[in-house]
Amino acid sequence: MTDMTDFQQKMTELLSEIELRFDEPMARHTSFRIGGPVEVMAFPKNAGELSKILKTSALLDCKPVILGAGTNVLAPDEGMKGLVICLKDCLDGMEQVDDTTIRVASGVTMTRAAVFAANLGLSGLEFAHGIPGTVGGGVYMNAGAYGGEICQVCKRVEVMDCQGKIRTFSNEEMRFSYRHSVLEEQEGIVISADFVLEKKPTEEIREKMKELMGRRSASQPLDKPSAGSAFKRPVGGYAAALIDQAGLKGFQVGGAAISTKHAGFAVNLGGATAADVKELLRQVSDLVYENSGIRLEPEVRIW
Ligand SMILES: Cc1cc2nc3c(=O)[nH]c(=O)nc-3n(C[C@H](O)[C@H](O)[C@H](O)COP(=O)(O)OP(=O)(O)OC[C@H]3O[C@@H](n4cnc5c(N)ncnc54)[C@H](O)[C@@H]3O)c2cc1C
Repeated sequence: MTDMTDFQQKMTELLSEIELRFDEPMARHTSFRIGGPVEVMAFPKNAGELSKILKTSALLDCKPVILGAGTNVLAPDEGMKGLVICLKDCLDGMEQVDDTTIRVASGVTMTRAAVFAANLGLSGLEFAHGIPGTVGGGVYMNAGAYGGEICQVCKRVEVMDCQGKIRTFSNEEMRFSYRHSVLEEQEGIVISADFVLEKKPTEEIREKMKELMGRRSASQPLDKPSAGSAFKRPVGGYAAALIDQAGLKGFQVGGAAISTKHAGFAVNLGGATAADVKELLRQVSDLVYENSGIRLEPEVRIW
């Protein structure tokens, strides 16, 4: 066993009651299955533990990085110094607040939230069923699919700042836009979100979710590690169509390739590195630009 770093030692002393893992491979926590070891990864079980972790890392002059389900992240091969706080399945819990509103903790997956709403006969989250991320990650980047978007139903978000203080943001204050929220500019961790939905028969909602899931599995390479759409939708086109028109389906760099099933997805064929994926995205962006004059920007967050 290697010696503990100073930071690991201090975190152990100051946070003895919290689950911490040292040199934890990011590949275990990202849907790309890519990423080297993180110096310290913390798994808070509730907002109180999260607040304590944040205060301690501030004391140690460390700016933590927040991880949900890791389904939109490309983590570095060389690993990361410092602290990653993992929220998936940690900040857990869902409740019905009134007739049409549910409150969901940020570590709950969007699929679980959609099923919870459906069981209550509440419609509006059908689009989120099948998006593999957490509610926190979905709110952070205003996830969307099949015409639905988090911003259409999310009316209130509880956000914790780096000192552990909680503030409530309205939908307007979240400044949602395409795959974007204010939290990309302003520090803050999503603790929970309120979704205001519409009453509908559960069977009708389930039918819609089934239909969307069918469309997803028919068109997406769900059998291969990926981070969903590799590029944002550009003005004036669709990334997948532009990549396809440039003849890049199956285009490969190292272990990473453009999916032959869906040109919008970059997939890990086995043993891909973050360097392979970055180079793939760079070359694809250049080749699409040469072919169409449209520049593609990565949607996946490159850490
Ligand atoms: C097969 C597949 C299909 C997909 N389909 C879709 C789709 O249809 N639509 C779509 O929009 N996306 C899709 N995605 C991408 C991804 O699931 C979404 O972007 C999702 O919202 C990311 O959530 P996450 O919990 O995995 O976030 P992560 O990938 O863990 O993190 C993404 C970003 O959010 C930040 N973050 C995470 N949690 C919090 C929090 N609680 N507070 C503050 N910041 C936070 C992270 O720091 C990071 O910057 C797909 C991905 C895959 C693998």
